[in-house]
Amino acid sequence: AHLDRIAAVDGPVHAFLHVSDEEALATARDVDRRRAAGEDLHPLAGVPVAVKDVVVTEGTPTTAGSRILQGWVPPYDATLVSRLKAARLPILGKTNMDEFAMGSSTEHSAYGDTHNPWDLTRIPGGSGGGSAAAVGAYEAPLAIGTDTGGSIRQPAAVTGTVGVKPTYGSVSRYGLIALASSLDQAGPVTRSVLDAALLHELIGGHDPRDATSLPEPVPPLVAAARQGLTGDLSGVRIGVVTELNGEGYQPGVRARFDEALDVLRGAGAQVTEVSCPHFGYALAAYYLILPSEASSNLAKFDGMRFGLRVVPQDGPPTAERVMAATRGAGFGDEVKRRIILGTYALSAGYYDAYYGSAQKVRTLIQRDFAAAFDQVDVLVSPTTPTTAFKLGEKLDDPLAMYLNDVATIPANLAGVPGLSVPSGLSDDGLPVGFQVLAPARADDRVYRVGAALE
Ligand code: GLN
Repeated sequence: AHLDRIAAVDGPVHAFLHVSDEEALATARDVDRRRAAGEDLHPLAGVPVAVKDVVVTEGTPTTAGSRILQGWVPPYDATLVSRLKAARLPILGKTNMDEFAMGSSTEHSAYGDTHNPWDLTRIPGGSGGGSAAAVGAYEAPLAIGTDTGGSIRQPAAVTGTVGVKPTYGSVSRYGLIALASSLDQAGPVTRSVLDAALLHELIGGHDPRDATSLPEPVPPLVAAARQGLTGDLSGVRIGVVTELNGEGYQPGVRARFDEALDVLRGAGAQVTEVSCPHFGYALAAYYLILPSEASSNLAKFDGMRFGLRVVPQDGPPTAERVMAATRGAGFGDEVKRRIILGTYALSAGYYDAYYGSAQKVRTLIQRDFAAAFDQVDVLVSPTTPTTAFKLGEKLDDPLAMYLNDVATIPANLAGVPGLSVPSGLSDDGLPVGFQVLAPARADDRVYRVGAALE
């Protein structure tokens, strides 16, 4: 049914870069056989899932939305993909994204835009717009995204879906094409909080192949979601982040946010305001740290090892000239912009002023979270300042594009978990997202509070 739905609507939506129909059907039929034979299966066995194209899949093309990886077929599976396969979830295919996960609109994909299923003239968010649009358009019931600065939560918010960035280190990064290694985290995109909890429990937990993987298992997330679904939040202390709810937020977004706070109060939660004074600097720090790490991570795309190779015809094909020609042709503008920015920020003479200062700001943001979580159990804010904007609207203005991430980035800088749950429609008829943040390793709290809002 999902493959039929993809065939019917993915032309205009363009959530997928690759559809693995035969493989998905084979897995689904295998699950049917095993179920008929009375085999004990994972609760998600047979439930199809779409995977963001930044996650490597053995034998299935993986491009990360970039021309430089066109035609590359990975020889191995990411750990999270191995876990999906072991639990027998049919993988529907690979979803569209901003090139190397840089962007907030999926317009930086080398393979064309993804359109928001709520209004095809609008962006589906980014960088994981394909995963969110696939779930929003009923092409997939479950999807995997990655979130370095909001790329799971912001697309979820603008497509009316649920998206979760887990605690840093709780879902393996082995087999994720790295954007910024100290910020990247994979997580679920779904239509309900309970579905997200099931998928998160499946992909989470220790992996010896990821050096930053946390040793402990993920907390009981499904139980937490079920507890939230009872609608009882008595004793839960909720802090509204002063700095993430005011000027610059669309009136309709603020109205839905305030109504959701009333629901939480009605469920017995204590709602107070909490200030995180350094959050105002998060965006600036992020856009130095991320390009710095990305410029280093992307050095491996050199025309020798993966994908595209361009050999210049106008002179000797030296390694350096092949590298320059390949990177010149293979990377898009946004990727080049960030490589230049990151190389500059890390360069001798500027390192302390830019990268060094940004790391200090990162510490201050971590301290803001620690102080806030001394007072409350979770922090909340709108996920994004506005609903989905029009395709093309911010494409020529990188700063306006970056501002979309103002509320999602602090969580990545501090490694804490964050969830976005739909909270109704704004005055423009488009979905609004409500964000819940919790201390590191307390992902169960975002599920409990998120589920109470469904
Ligand atoms: N929009 C952010 C950026 O462009 C988010 C990226 C992400 O989470 N992958 O960097």
